[in-house]
Amino acid sequence: MKIHEYQAKEILRKYGVTVPTGEMAMTIEQADTAAKQLFSAGNKVVVIKAQIHAGGRGKGGGVKLARSLDEAVEHSKAILGMQLITHQTGPQGQKVQRLLVESGSAIDRELYLGIVLDRASAKVVFMASQAGGMEIEEVAHENPDAIFKEYIEPAVGLQPYQARKLAFKLGLEPAQIGDAVKLMQGLYNAFIDTDATLMEINPFITTKDGKLAALDCKINFDDNAMFRHKDLKELRDLSEEDPLEVEASKFALNYIKLDGNIACMVNGAGLAMATMDIISYAGGSPANFLDVGGGANQEQIENAFGILLSDSNVKAIFINIFGGILRVDVLATAVVAAAKKLNVQIPIVLRLEGTNVEEGRKILADSGLKFQVGATMKEAADLVVAAAKA
Ligand code: GDP
Ligand code: MN
Repeated sequence: MKIHEYQAKEILRKYGVTVPTGEMAMTIEQADTAAKQLFSAGNKVVVIKAQIHAGGRGKGGGVKLARSLDEAVEHSKAILGMQLITHQTGPQGQKVQRLLVESGSAIDRELYLGIVLDRASAKVVFMASQAGGMEIEEVAHENPDAIFKEYIEPAVGLQPYQARKLAFKLGLEPAQIGDAVKLMQGLYNAFIDTDATLMEINPFITTKDGKLAALDCKINFDDNAMFRHKDLKELRDLSEEDPLEVEASKFALNYIKLDGNIACMVNGAGLAMATMDIISYAGGSPANFLDVGGGANQEQIENAFGILLSDSNVKAIFINIFGGILRVDVLATAVVAAAKKLNVQIPIVLRLEGTNVEEGRKILADSGLKFQVGATMKEAADLVVAAAKA
């Protein structure tokens, strides 16, 4: 689960991490009031920042500095409602529905801090780099030595000496080391307490008067832990998510929309991945990842069909099932019923294997509907790719 920058900064504030003062605004009036307040509090510069679930906003024109109230309102009008295109939004961009109106910082240096779960070492890794403000993926690719890493022992957490080591590598002044250590420990505690999977401060800045602050913040949470964070769950902004994925999450379907034209309905995440692979291998392109789960019933199959069919790119459906807990005859009955009920018109290709597979095939054959059944995964993939092209 992703949240907005202003929400992430609210969390950091609770952990003693310095972030600029600011206010979220959903209208020009709110932005105006927030900017007025900041200017009258003595700020010389106010920053207007687009709030979308994607980075690279600065380059795309979604972050602007204002030196007067008029300028702040002008920038707010330009950014609020714009279709902001960044390297993370895709070419269609994302509509800006919220702004963060924030006190401007006099930046001296732009650094980078990041915390992620490193699956290879099964540890949380704390990263720091002097190459802040720019795309860290690029730095990692072209100059990996510019990113310093400390692997954290889960039993003891981030140790002060590790934070000090990173602070020195960032080239901070001796007087700043203590503050940096405190700030990093605040970040780490926030990361652990919220069951985050990723936290990025880019840029982590030093100011002209020697202070430290988190100027930007991105946090992703572990969806599987959200049941124990009711307060965080409320931060979810559904308007930032793909509508079909939101719909699928209501039915506990693991669905991710992709840009191909062959819809996949599969039980089990591993088989779903293999299905997408074999579609590509057969020369096609999957429209989605969809795991209907091990115990899918007719209702789940209907829900899944509904979601697949509301994607207008879909030209054919590939149902790839291994009947283990879910018997193939039960599944076939559900597929026939759902296809009839929803009056599915586009070609459906199935590959079935497992318990009661012969009964399942017979149910499909006797259904009066035009299913195609492949004997193997490859044969079914070839059939569905041909059907999507026809
Ligand atoms: P991102 O582009 O989506 O990562 O948005 P950021 O919040 O990181 O802002 C992008 C860039 O805008 C930063 O790297 C800074 O260079 C600049 N910026 C943001 N806030 C301020 C500020 O308060 N003062 C100044 N001078 N620059 C800022
Ligand atoms: Mn940033």
